[in-house]
Amino acid sequence: MNLKTHLQHNIFQTISDVGAENGVSVFVIGGYVRDILLKRPSKDIDFVVLGNGLDIAEKVVKRLNVQKVAFYKNFGTAAFIYDELEIEFVGARKESYNRDSRKPVVENGTLQDDQNRRDFTINALAISLNKSSFGEVLDPFNGLADLDKKIIRTPLEPSKTYSDDPLRMMRAIRFATQLGFKIEQESLDAISKNADRLKIVSAERIVTELNKIILADKPSIGFKLLFDTKLLHQFFPEMVALQGIETVNGKSHKDNFYHTLEVLDNICENTDDLWLRWAAIMHDIAKPKTKRFNDTVGWTFHGHEDLGAKMTPKIFTRLKLPLDHKMKYVQKLVRLHLRPIALVSGSVTDTAVRRLLFEAGDDIDDLMTLCNADITSKNEYKILKYRQNFEKVRQKLKDVEEKDQIRNFQPPISGAEIMDIFQLSPSKIVGNLKNDIKEAILEGEIKNNYNDAYTYLMERAEFYGLTIPKRGK
Ligand code: ATP
Repeated sequence: MNLKTHLQHNIFQTISDVGAENGVSVFVIGGYVRDILLKRPSKDIDFVVLGNGLDIAEKVVKRLNVQKVAFYKNFGTAAFIYDELEIEFVGARKESYNRDSRKPVVENGTLQDDQNRRDFTINALAISLNKSSFGEVLDPFNGLADLDKKIIRTPLEPSKTYSDDPLRMMRAIRFATQLGFKIEQESLDAISKNADRLKIVSAERIVTELNKIILADKPSIGFKLLFDTKLLHQFFPEMVALQGIETVNGKSHKDNFYHTLEVLDNICENTDDLWLRWAAIMHDIAKPKTKRFNDTVGWTFHGHEDLGAKMTPKIFTRLKLPLDHKMKYVQKLVRLHLRPIALVSGSVTDTAVRRLLFEAGDDIDDLMTLCNADITSKNEYKILKYRQNFEKVRQKLKDVEEKDQIRNFQPPISGAEIMDIFQLSPSKIVGNLKNDIKEAILEGEIKNNYNDAYTYLMERAEFYGLTIPKRGK
């Protein structure tokens, strides 16, 4: 096979020329070749040089007039950006591994050695940039056939491949999920066998792959594989605990692991946002810990939303996920995920709606997206009924928001102004007054405007025994 037509960009010709002038062979290798064949857009190009990669990189950079290059002498690699392409150069290498580290011992090698060290046959494809064979594909492990058959397979013996670098197990499942490929049975068995080897991989690397699985079109594919191979058990036991159905006196609860995956797949149809997808993963995470059986009502999971919110920072810390506003956002959605549905009943007051709008703020739409995804049932009639109820809630939220503008609530009178009016220094009473105004608005006792708030403030101030100034002072 010749892929010359895919090498029109001047970078390929330049590298080919530099290689020829210096008498060294250069190849495009790995993911970029795979993605050309899968017609997936890719901006990462890896070049492998049979010789000194740094030396060739330096000459290429000069010729292309690139100013900024990173040379990683320890790894023998060089990286730079050219025309928005992320370019990396490396000398062909041979690798061998120690039992307690996924970092290999490296020595110079042949192209074959370099292809041997690749994780999957579809990632071991190379394209020659040498003059006599420009564009020709080198495919020592039948990667082309595997691309056709949609199979993930390791070039060498799977168990050794995964044990050497256990991150490859996560990568196998990530590619299977992203590309919709099947992991070859022998590989799958090897992953199950080596699952506990994941302990030598850092949480950061694991979560990078996990997030790629979560960002795929149908993440449930990946999570089922992670569960079946017991990789998930290594780093996310809380999610594993969701699995299973218990029956008491003929009453069963649903399997919350598969329910969570359904919610996750559902939400992926409506959002590409990683953190909203994480909220779907986390929404029922505390169900196992709050599960109770009661003869009259059957199974309950009281308080799972609050406990789930509490568990969120702990899980994010362990997985080395960010602990900033992104975690807070997930936590908030977990905590509020039952609230919109509680507003279905006709007797719900505007106060309850205002309170939800206040607590959710600008995240109300995302919360509704989560709740919509949370509607899962085998019973079509039930789904239809829930969806109709859900639309009623949407309408209620819209009506109340139009009337009262709570979602971006800013106190109509600020703390600073309260201090100024009553000549107070920062103190508890200022907070109390501010809070009283907010509560009165949420309760619907006063309207969300300055005048109503001012009159009410005076009433409360009197109650607290403050001296009331004349208005306009
Ligand atoms: P993506 O760009 O979607 O992450 P990719 O395959 O290009 O996919 P990179 O991490 O950029 O992923 O890796 C580039 C190439 O390096 C791979 O195609 C593969 O040949 C090789 N590779 C990466 N990680 C490993 C690994 N852990 N073990 C063996 N080979 C690897």
